[in-house]
Amino acid sequence: MWSGNDTMLDVLVQPEVIPRVSKFLHERHVNYEIVISDLQRAIEQENPTLSAEEMEELEGRKGHRMEWSSYHRLEDIHGYLDYLAETFPELCSVMSIGNSVEGRPLKVLRISNGKANVPALWIDGGIHAREWISPAVVTYVINHLVENSEDLEADYYILPVVNPDGYEYTFRGDRLWRKNRSSPEKGGVCIGVDLNRNFGYRWGGLGTSKQPCREIFAGTAPFSEPETRAIRNFFEASAANFKAYLTFHSYGQYILYPWGYDRRVPPDYADLERVGRQAAQAMKIAGGAASVYTVGNSATTLYAASGGADDWAKAILKIKYTYTIELRDTGKHGFVLPAQYIVPTAKEALAAIDVVVQASKL
Ligand SMILES: [Zn+2]
Repeated sequence: MWSGNDTMLDVLVQPEVIPRVSKFLHERHVNYEIVISDLQRAIEQENPTLSAEEMEELEGRKGHRMEWSSYHRLEDIHGYLDYLAETFPELCSVMSIGNSVEGRPLKVLRISNGKANVPALWIDGGIHAREWISPAVVTYVINHLVENSEDLEADYYILPVVNPDGYEYTFRGDRLWRKNRSSPEKGGVCIGVDLNRNFGYRWGGLGTSKQPCREIFAGTAPFSEPETRAIRNFFEASAANFKAYLTFHSYGQYILYPWGYDRRVPPDYADLERVGRQAAQAMKIAGGAASVYTVGNSATTLYAASGGADDWAKAILKIKYTYTIELRDTGKHGFVLPAQYIVPTAKEALAAIDVVVQASKL
């Protein structure tokens, strides 16, 4: 299952079972439409990677290999963060807040122009490995903030790839991998925990699974995974004045606020709804007709999901403007969004971030 709510479902069907599935749907009078008829082909056309020569030329000219006409490997993303910290030491610093299961660093970039009494914002991406648009958009946001650093009205803490092992695995192994790459318990066979079910608020509730083979396996305990623990430890140690927590996913075009654990809302949900709608409006102005984002609380608007980063940030960290933003598209390409959509999607995201920064200053 790729996505869905009360009224629709996007489902990936293996070729061998297409006749059975279509018979099943016909018999029950369920309308359906084939959105992607050949997924492998879509995957092959998604990411026109630069040649080695082009990469080398880029690196020679700019000092890093990051650009936004294609999806980049972790090495390029981390190289870009290191480049920024080295090149703009007054503005950017990079810290590793921990390591993934396979030992990759979790690199957070801090961007601050030193203005006093500004709010702090947390932005992350890539918690779900296959949602490539998310790290691409988050790195584009970084680029924009650095290039417009005199105008910054907040301090930003940005972790572009929460799940680096999973992300790399989507390039090397399975393009549609979602979880981290945690080893199975003794006697088990299935790899990986859904990191966005592994946070320590209402862990293990609705929308999660105790079965390691499921896509929504919550892990063996809250914060059982080094990736989620690193985020928790970072916040426990940080003295920054966090007013917003934005976690970028795909797909569906939603601006979601807590709670995810059940169809309930926090006491200040009216503020979250209002700012969410302002963000959606700004995204539409930035992106045009395709950029319609639906606003709502996450369990009601999309589906219940307990143990998510958003619920934890809201309930435990008490960060006011906590949103999960599901980026493009609404299903035409789903997770396999062609790279040409990176820049327009990122421009929308910037518009939303700006709205949240303004709200955070009040
Ligand atoms: Zn996701």
